[in-house]
Parts: sequence; structure tokens; C-alpha cells
Amino acid sequence: MSDYPMTINGRPELGNATFDVVDPATAAPFAKAPICSPEQLDDAVRGAGEAWTRWRTDEGRRRAALRATADVLAGAADELSALLTLEQGKPTAEAIDEIADSQAWFRYYADVDDPAEVLQDDETAHVELRRRPLGVVAAIVPWNYPLTSSSWKLAPALRAGNTVVLKPSPYTPLATLRFGELLARVLPPGVVNVISGLDDLGPLLTAHPQVRKISFTGSTETGKRVAAAAATDLKRVTLELGGNDPAIILDDADPTAIAETLFSRAFENNGQVCSAVKRIYAPRSIYARVVDDLAAIAASRIVGPGSDPRTQLGPLNNQRQLDHVAALVDDARTRGGRIAAGGARIDRPGYFYAPTIVADVFDGTRLVDEEQFGPALPVIAYDDLDATLDLVNSSPFGLCGSVWGDADRAADIAAQLDCGTAWINEHLVQPPNQPFGGARWSGIGVENGVEGLHGFSQPQTFYRPR
Ligand code: NAD
Repeated sequence: MSDYPMTINGRPELGNATFDVVDPATAAPFAKAPICSPEQLDDAVRGAGEAWTRWRTDEGRRRAALRATADVLAGAADELSALLTLEQGKPTAEAIDEIADSQAWFRYYADVDDPAEVLQDDETAHVELRRRPLGVVAAIVPWNYPLTSSSWKLAPALRAGNTVVLKPSPYTPLATLRFGELLARVLPPGVVNVISGLDDLGPLLTAHPQVRKISFTGSTETGKRVAAAAATDLKRVTLELGGNDPAIILDDADPTAIAETLFSRAFENNGQVCSAVKRIYAPRSIYARVVDDLAAIAASRIVGPGSDPRTQLGPLNNQRQLDHVAALVDDARTRGGRIAAGGARIDRPGYFYAPTIVADVFDGTRLVDEEQFGPALPVIAYDDLDATLDLVNSSPFGLCGSVWGDADRAADIAAQLDCGTAWINEHLVQPPNQPFGGARWSGIGVENGVEGLHGFSQPQTFYRPR
């Protein structure tokens, strides 16, 4: 029997079948999660559809419900963060941060104002641009930040007047299932449904005729399948997909001064962040120092189970991801890449890989071209800044990027990056008011900010003659 129920139309529901949830720090199963049947999926979507008719009518109530949701998260922070560490692998401190971040999203969307825009107000007519909710939203999230990525969807979707069926990743269903149970105490039945299952559940959810919007975060490969599923029924779709963010260092930067920040922006959550720094371009004049400083930090990091308070970097989340990172590093090594730190699995149970810096690699190597999504960072030497800009802008990925050095000069370069977020002397700073989305293969549409709220509504022009 499952250890955690789904929440369907306000009721806790176990599945007829279950799947194992594995602790990445031991590679051993430690809990079971329910497999949602097609009938239960239908109940969840139908329940969300019925709840929508009333939920959409009272914005004041929705704002209050979002505040109550933030309070629920705060009240359950210890329990939820412990679950996150167990199923995801991240250190306890990062799991606690994830709960705090999630609360911030609910509070932001409880408070933000989004009045109708007056387009015309004269002797002929009063014309406004208003927003209407879409209906039932399918929210599908990955395993790296189960609760934050759920909150990025739930908070704006609910505030805009929609109801939601949320599906966590099969690798990390538990904290989200528990969150759903807790939410049933403060939200009307059906407003948020949480279902779990294996990878065949996503396609069933995206194909459901009553779903009107799909908000998906995950890999580019799956995102393309979701887009195809949405197209057959013209469902609205937002896709937050993979990234391969470049950090470009300028020749006036001080490598030692920026090394700690750069490292942490690449290795947060053990590199399993869509918008982490995934490749560094450093000018040849300071290249050796950049590599040495990053390698020294990598070698000093304490890797271990997330539940150990000394741990700075936990395991990867799953065997597939560990194998992927190891394969990219091995490939770089065979192509002449120099392993400046790490470069191997750690010999202990669980999905551990040593924090790795790979020097003397180039575009055209898998570790540089593909998304590693793990603790292995390539550092590429460059001679020509314009050519480097052309290179990063020609990547199929276009999530975020950053430029490091004199702030004015860096701002000029950052303004030429063809991506969704460009930072100057920073990376990975993502508060709830900043729209976030990707160019090209990194996604369609944006989350967060008022722009993200608009992704959960249908614009309506409202024309009243004088
Ligand atoms: P994934 O694409 O394998 O899975 C994501 C979710 O989609 C899971 O819940 C999965 O069960 C579900 N799914 C699988 N097949 C589906 C289908 N055919 N239809 C509908 N749903 C389906 O991704 P992952 O491995 O869990 O996550 C890692 C990826 O997510 C990385 O590429 C990372 O960059 C990306 N990501 C992007 C962002 C962003 O905001 N841009 C944020 C976090 C992660």
C-alpha cells in the first residue's frame, strides 16, 4: 500500500497499485507512492472542472487562499523539507530554502495587482483589456525542485482563477503528495488535485479533453511531446525546458573574486538546476586562474547525504542522471579534456559523483553542447569575444546567461545574449516578480511576474460604446 495518498476532489485516495520511491543517498527504496488509475485521473480533472465554476468568481477569496497556502507551507516546513531531502537528495538547508521560496511565490501572487488595462476612454468608447481564467490547468513538474516548481505553477494559476491537477515526477512524488493533503484543509475540494504515477500518466493528463492549459517544466525532449499533445486540442501551453547557460568572463574580471559565486551558481542543487551556469567561457589571459580557482573550490566541497548537516553537495537524484553526467565527463576526457577536479563516481552506495571541473574543452564536445544537469562544469578558453557571443547565441538552448567583469562593459555584452534572462555579475537570481522563460529549445512562454500570471488567462477586449 502507498505511504502517501493522492488528493482528488478534496479526498485522500490511494491507488490500486504503487511504485517505489528511492533515496538517492542510498539507492534503496524507502517508500511507496500511488499509481493513479485512468478513472482517478478522470475524477481529478472532472472535480477540478466542477470546482472552477465557483473558484473563478471571487478574487478576494483566492488571494486569501494563497496566503493560507503559504501559511500551510510554513507550518509544515520541517516535515516537507525532510521529505524533500529523502526523495530528492538535496542538503537539508537547501530543502528548507525550497519551502521558503515556495511560500514567497504564494505571497507574491496573493498580493500582486493586475488591473484591467484601459485601451481607450474617449467620446466614442471605453475599451479595456481584461483577463479571464482558462479552466482546468494540468501542471507537470520535474524532480529537481518538486515544491518550488509546483508553486511557480499553482500560485499564478489559482490567482488567475483556474483550478489545477498537479503531477509530480515519479522520482520525487512524496513532498508534493503531502502538500496536496495539507492543501485540502484550506482550499475548496477540487481546486488543487495532486496525482502520481509513472511516466505514462503525463500523456494521459495532457490528452484529457477537459484540460484547457498545460504548464510543463521538464526536459526539452518531453516538452516537444507535450507541445504536440497540446496542439491536437489547441490547449494553451507553457513550456519551461532545458538550459545550457553560458557564463562569459571578461578579461577585466578578477577570477579569484568571482570564483565562489560562479561555483555556487553552477553547483547549486548539485548542478541540477535548469538555469545553473552550465559552461564557462574565460579569456585566455586569465584562463588558468579561472580553472585553478574553480578546481580548488570543487576539491574542497563536502559531498554526502543531504541529511548530514556537514554536507554541501548531495547525490544526484537518480541512476539515469548519474550515468548521463558520467558519460559526458568520460566523453570529454577521451576528446582531450583535462579533469582539473573530480571526474569520477564516488565509491559508496547512492548516486554520488565528485564535483568536477573540466578544462581544455571546446564547443562540439558533448559536455559543452548538451545539458549536463549535474556536478560537472566545462571551462572553455576563448580569444575572440564576438565569436564567443555568436557561439552561445547559436546554441539550440536559450534559457539564461551571464557576463562577468566591469559592470558597464558586461552589460553591453549581456544585452547581446539571445536568451530569456541575462545577468551581470550574477546568475540564478530569480525572485517571483521576474518573468522567467527560455528562447528556442528552452521553452515557450514565461512563468513568474505579472507576465507569468497572464499565461494562465485568456485576454478579453471589452468594448462599451458611449
Ligand atoms: P522529464 O521531461 O523527464 O520529466 C518532467 C515531467 O514530465 C515528469 O513529471 C514526467 O513524469 C513527465 N512526463 C514524462 N513524459 C511525459 C509526457 N510524454 N507527457 C507529459 N508529461 C510527461 O524531465 P526531468 O528529467 O524530470 O527534469 C529534468 C529536466 O527539466 C532538465 O532538462 C531541466 O533543465 C528541466 N527543467 C527546466 C526548468 C525550467 O524552468 N526551464 C526547471 C527545472 C527543470
